[in-house]
Amino acid sequence: MLTLVDIVVDAPRLGPLTYIWPECLPRPSPGEWALVPVGRRQMIGLIHETRRCKPQALDGIGYTVREVQARVEAIPTITDLHLGLLRFAARYYHRGLGEVVGTMLPGWWRAPTQHRKSPKRKHSPAETLAIEVRNDAQRKGAPSTETYRPKPHVHPLTSDQQTALKTLLAEARPAMLHGATGSGKTRVYEEIIAELGRDRPGRILVLVPEIGLTPQLHARLQERFPQARLGMLHSGLTERQRAKTWIEAATGCLDILIGTRMAVFVPIDDVRLIIVDEEHDNSYKQQEGLRYSARDLAIWRAQSIGARLILGSATPSLETQAQVRSGRIRSVEMRLQATGTQTAQVHLIDLSRERPQEGLAPSLWSRMEATLSGGQQSLVFVNRRGWSPVVSCGACGWINRCRDCDASAVLHQRGSGWRLICHRCGRVEAPPKACPACGNPSLDTLGRGSQRIEEAITRRFPEARVLRVDRDQMTSPKATEAAFDAIRKGRVDIVVGTQMMAKGHDFPNLRTVLVVDADARLHQPDYRGPEQLFALLLQVAGRAGRHPSSSPVENDQAQSVQAGVWIQTHYPEHPLMRAITAPGFDSQKAFWSALLADREQAGLPPYRHLALVRLSHRDAAVVEDAAKAIHRQGNTSRGVRLYPPVPQYPERVANKIRWQVLLESESRSQLHAAVAELDAWMATSTKVDTSIEIDPLGFSG
Ligand code: ADP
Ligand code: ZN
Ligand code: ZN
Repeated sequence: MLTLVDIVVDAPRLGPLTYIWPECLPRPSPGEWALVPVGRRQMIGLIHETRRCKPQALDGIGYTVREVQARVEAIPTITDLHLGLLRFAARYYHRGLGEVVGTMLPGWWRAPTQHRKSPKRKHSPAETLAIEVRNDAQRKGAPSTETYRPKPHVHPLTSDQQTALKTLLAEARPAMLHGATGSGKTRVYEEIIAELGRDRPGRILVLVPEIGLTPQLHARLQERFPQARLGMLHSGLTERQRAKTWIEAATGCLDILIGTRMAVFVPIDDVRLIIVDEEHDNSYKQQEGLRYSARDLAIWRAQSIGARLILGSATPSLETQAQVRSGRIRSVEMRLQATGTQTAQVHLIDLSRERPQEGLAPSLWSRMEATLSGGQQSLVFVNRRGWSPVVSCGACGWINRCRDCDASAVLHQRGSGWRLICHRCGRVEAPPKACPACGNPSLDTLGRGSQRIEEAITRRFPEARVLRVDRDQMTSPKATEAAFDAIRKGRVDIVVGTQMMAKGHDFPNLRTVLVVDADARLHQPDYRGPEQLFALLLQVAGRAGRHPSSSPVENDQAQSVQAGVWIQTHYPEHPLMRAITAPGFDSQKAFWSALLADREQAGLPPYRHLALVRLSHRDAAVVEDAAKAIHRQGNTSRGVRLYPPVPQYPERVANKIRWQVLLESESRSQLHAAVAELDAWMATSTKVDTSIEIDPLGFSG
């Protein structure tokens, strides 16, 4: 008799592969790992099924069935329960199980080199790491029965927090914790962990959208639960660190795992609670490879294993709000700031009445000045990196474009020089000295990015400590954490920040928020535009005035300013701008209700479901033909509407022409059936690169 195993490997469009299991090895079980040959490569694969058969069964098979090379014991066995999640993701996103397994397993563990023994060493690098983790765990001793005994807190819970806690504990159903910015959601997470942990420890998975938010949350939870074993998982770690945390979590050596979207896949046993903090954040959606939503998978995972689920946000996504309306998720609200201070008021500055000076309306400059002389902090929010987004010629109308994309390259200051950087493909070039079209030596720069705004502020307030927080400046998690720390400790007067500054942070001394370029996103064509801009503005506004003003130490004369938010705009009458200035939780809810009603009427998510087929190829005619063929093929599906194929925006990126076909349906199952059919057809009938995305965030991208 022979033992055959079906093994799943991370190779696109490859189903499970069959191998012979060497009889000298202990019998295999599903969920275990092995090293196998695939073509001329060696790969790590997950054992999916095993069976016994007579050797003759291989005779008529038509190809040579190869042998498994080694068993990999360093990676823990995946349980059936967890395989359920992986299978669901594969089915739902129409990808091979191998691609999901590949997304779950960190790159370090996937590399065959980590599993090879060298003649000199007794253990492979993977085994060495697994042993290290086991020894660490033994040294720390058995997990405490008081894992989640919290250190007492100096502040009592606010009444909002008390009510929220009681409501959350009362029922096991998934919940949305809709807490205004500054309402103290983290504190509620802590109390829930403490309460649930009282009767039975179990494990906790906390998802956060940004690397930047992990160190803070880690520090807070560790401080509150000194006996709990915490781990962090995000892309800012080295490959080996990530591999280590992953294996610690997977082998039960961690009580609480805090991580970005990848953490949703970590095979942790006995998860009791999953928290998705800032659940509205787009970073939960992976925008390449397996385009999954970590929030959606977290919901599924919690339900399939009977864990509690909390989706926390001050600006919950319309998806989650719709789930609340349909009763699948319950809503728990916290309306007031936990510190007892008033929410900062939001004002609009009408740019048709005030002429901006170097990008900022005069009243914004004076707010900044007043805040500065009061010894407090301002945040100048600019949603665009670099110096200026467009370089153009005033004489002939030439506009700089990336050579490989249909997009203008952004001018950046790099050290003492200048560079044009394409934000689509990353191409870097030296800017031309004169207009390439007409020779005009003085080119114009249109628009202002964070660098240019920072420069203007530094010139106007030479004595101020100005810090720019954007992805260009914050090149490592360490640098980012140092910057946030400097802001928290009051070593910065004015922060010029992009999106990075809008999320979740609690800066005690920040009083004034000035929004420079809200208009840029007001007219973006994507249907999620208003939802996202509204959330972004509420989040940015929520950074101001979270704490009572503490009089600055060095300067007794300093006059502290009232916390406030000023948004400059050309469209003060726009409904979104009006909604953002209306004070209170109820007016925000009213705006969201209106957005939901719009979506329902327009037949858009969350009321209808979307799938996108993306195609790309070097040749425009080839990709267009392929898109039309896909459209014809899919158009017969029942209950599904196919939009006519269109080029993506921008059409050309990194020198490839991109098209798309959008599918829409009221019924998830009909949509999935249509996608599955189309997928099978494309596998044999299309020569261009195609990929399927379920629940795309937008029509373009
Ligand atoms: P959110 O995440 O909801 O915006 P945070 O959890 O960051 O809010 O809390 C906002 C601020 O309020 C923090 O500085 C926090 O320490 C403080 N805070 C939270 N709960 C309380 C409480 N019960 N009493 C006093 N201060 C609190
Ligand atoms: Zn010119
Ligand atoms: Zn480009």
